Amino acid sequence: MGCLLIIFDGLGDRPVPFFSNKTPLEAAHTPNLDFLASKGVCGLMDSIGVGVRPASDTAHLSIFGFDPKKYYFGRGVLECIGLGMDVRNGDACFRVNFGTINSKKIIIDRRAGRIDETGKLVDSLNKIKLSTGIKVIVGKGVQHRAGVLFRGKGILARVSDADPHEENKPMLSCKPLDGFVEARLLADSVNEFVSKANAVLANHPLNKKRRAQKLLPANCILLRGAGSLGEIPSFRQKWGLSASCVAGGKLYKGVAKLVGMKVIDVPTATGKAETDFKAKVDAAVKALKSSDFVFLHFKGTDLMGEDGNAVGKKDYLEKADRHLGVLHQLSKEHLIVVTGDHSTPCELKAHSGDPVPIVFSGRGCRRDHVTHFNERDCSTGALCRITGLQVMNEVLNVLGRAPLYGD
Ligand code: ZN
Repeated sequence: MGCLLIIFDGLGDRPVPFFSNKTPLEAAHTPNLDFLASKGVCGLMDSIGVGVRPASDTAHLSIFGFDPKKYYFGRGVLECIGLGMDVRNGDACFRVNFGTINSKKIIIDRRAGRIDETGKLVDSLNKIKLSTGIKVIVGKGVQHRAGVLFRGKGILARVSDADPHEENKPMLSCKPLDGFVEARLLADSVNEFVSKANAVLANHPLNKKRRAQKLLPANCILLRGAGSLGEIPSFRQKWGLSASCVAGGKLYKGVAKLVGMKVIDVPTATGKAETDFKAKVDAAVKALKSSDFVFLHFKGTDLMGEDGNAVGKKDYLEKADRHLGVLHQLSKEHLIVVTGDHSTPCELKAHSGDPVPIVFSGRGCRRDHVTHFNERDCSTGALCRITGLQVMNEVLNVLGRAPLYGD
């Protein structure tokens, strides 16, 4: 018996007037998720704590049972690991967006129109050399995303973001955080790199082509989330379970790799709203034959929430649900847990601290009276309101693998 954990990114939402004040999940027709709810035990989950707005990385760490207060090394580390970059101790890692700036260097789009193909841009940036002698390596991510790591003696990843995190604002220069004067070398290296990178991007043939096509050019890079790798036990060491991951987004692969999960490559899993649901579900079901624990991630719910697209979020959930019929059979032998990492309400177009629904269903699970998997119905379930760090305890308990507390 194993456990399949399905995480819909940004699953939770708030009432949407267009849906008569139902959330997208409440409005969606999801018979397979409802089946799990009717055969299992439901509740709400705060991945970090009540009212805390989790980022995806800390939320996932917490749900996997790794307290982010202790094991969060910065988003940049996870992004770079997820991209398959060779991250070494001492490297300063950043998460990067390709964005668009106007002639006054004001950011007009933080995602360069969600540009699709950045391979040639990344190749050009990898040729940049810095006067500080620090080596820079750029890794390509999904759409507008990338990772950058700085390697060399004397760098310390205690620097501010070179990204204002908002549009209609100028780019920021990277600075050592208060009290970390020894981070000056890294801050200088980052600023030199950003300035050289933006110059390269301004004249890049790909951007000339995009301008001609009336698309936003990817003419700036926004670095944020500086961090360096630290010590962390593996998922198997912590929980005694072998684990695999099926995800499209690099960040999620990064979190999985960080805790030693085997990342299964599904070439058609995109990390976007349009993805190969069937291939992902098939890969997860197959992985459950050889792993005790399988993490299956769907990103589209979060993307739709960030775009404020409630209809798109509902449609995405229905589409995903149509590929989850296999769970009827699977839940006879295995534990199935479905939840989100946080809410991304369409009205906010951002993460919120609202809890997400969670269901434990399948072999060994108790049942409650909940028959629909959504925010409202799960709030009446027997699991009540739990935190992310409690999820793995309950997984181990249902699997019959929880250690005895006391003698
Ligand atoms: Zn998320």
